[in-house]
Amino acid sequence: MSNTSSEFIPFTRPSFNQETIEAVAEVLRSGWVTSGPKLAEFESTLSKYFGGRPVRCFANGTATMKIALQVAGIGEGDEVITTPISWVATSNVILSVGAKPVFVDIDPVTRNIDLDKVASAVTSKTKAIMPVYLAGLPVDMDKLYSLAKQHQLRVIEDAAQAFGSQWQGKKIGSFGDLVSFSFQANKNLTTIEGGCLVLNNGDEAKLAEKFRLQGLTRQGMDGMDVDVLGGKDNLTDVNAVIGLQQLKQLPAYQTRRTALARQYFDSIRAEIKSTGFDIQLELPVENFTESNWHMFQVVLPVEQLNCDRAQIMTELKELGIGTGVHYPAITGFTLYKNQGYQTSSTPIAERIGKSILTLPLFPGMKDQDIARIASGLVEILQKHYKK
Ligand SMILES: *Cc1c(COP(=O)(O)O)cnc(C)c1O
Repeated sequence: MSNTSSEFIPFTRPSFNQETIEAVAEVLRSGWVTSGPKLAEFESTLSKYFGGRPVRCFANGTATMKIALQVAGIGEGDEVITTPISWVATSNVILSVGAKPVFVDIDPVTRNIDLDKVASAVTSKTKAIMPVYLAGLPVDMDKLYSLAKQHQLRVIEDAAQAFGSQWQGKKIGSFGDLVSFSFQANKNLTTIEGGCLVLNNGDEAKLAEKFRLQGLTRQGMDGMDVDVLGGKDNLTDVNAVIGLQQLKQLPAYQTRRTALARQYFDSIRAEIKSTGFDIQLELPVENFTESNWHMFQVVLPVEQLNCDRAQIMTELKELGIGTGVHYPAITGFTLYKNQGYQTSSTPIAERIGKSILTLPLFPGMKDQDIARIASGLVEILQKHYKK
């Protein structure tokens, strides 16, 4: 086997250059460390990046999505259509504003919400649709926005994983309704923790600022008022300078991620071919123009294996290969089961949630890492294949 190095490969790892470390030190020395001039600069740089649309930053992606729902006026009694295959934050924020998540099954190929199944889930209470771009692959944006128009729904895009992704040559976030990104440490662009929301106009941006800081509005030098319930969700200048530096590195990161993804397809296919077995491993959509390759995920042929996914993960770990599960169906979590949700109502999500596996993918990976992972994975699958 090609396991020449025993160095552990995590499923993801952020990269920070010396310039970033120095930029952080400069903020720490400046005497102003929380939200200030660097945040303002980050927000205006992001706004330019998104073609001039207003952008506001928040402490994390979860707060960003919650505030997006609040800006859209979604609350008690409203329904929001979303996907069961996401980080639980997506539906937790719907619950946290008092609304009800309505889960629509996914497309097994893209692993994103199946837009053809959305219309039948719309009721008189439906106020919004919240798609997720799993691993950075967008949904059909034309179809999404025509559905929204037809049913008069707001769109809150959970683009947490899709910073740098595109749709027909346009950046995700540069068009559409409310678009939410996360800058958590594992994301393609990170501020350690953080997030940003792309909004439609200045009024929405003002409202988002209010929700971000206790519902506060300032009037003159010494006046203030609070007329809505806000939280404490601001992003600091320390985080903002990291984001500014990451933005400069993003094109290089993107090129590297795309090259690594291409290598995965070639290496995995070559390894499967060399076994002479027909190993039914489901690979991602081969999209090298629109996906930002946030993750490289395979769906294991669990029906054909004499062991479960956990065993495959354990054996990969023994080879020094870290993997992750993104994600089990949200409807299977106790909080959701207790509210009457069932994984069986979205059978494709149920199946994929049990068999999806995230392989390592991050800009700092070496070419030989991909070869090592592909051969290790296929070897383990072959060993456990029922025959
Ligand atoms: C990361 C992520 C979030 C939440 O972002 P945080 O910054 O961790 O709060 C939400 N949705 C998806 C799909 C994510 O990947």
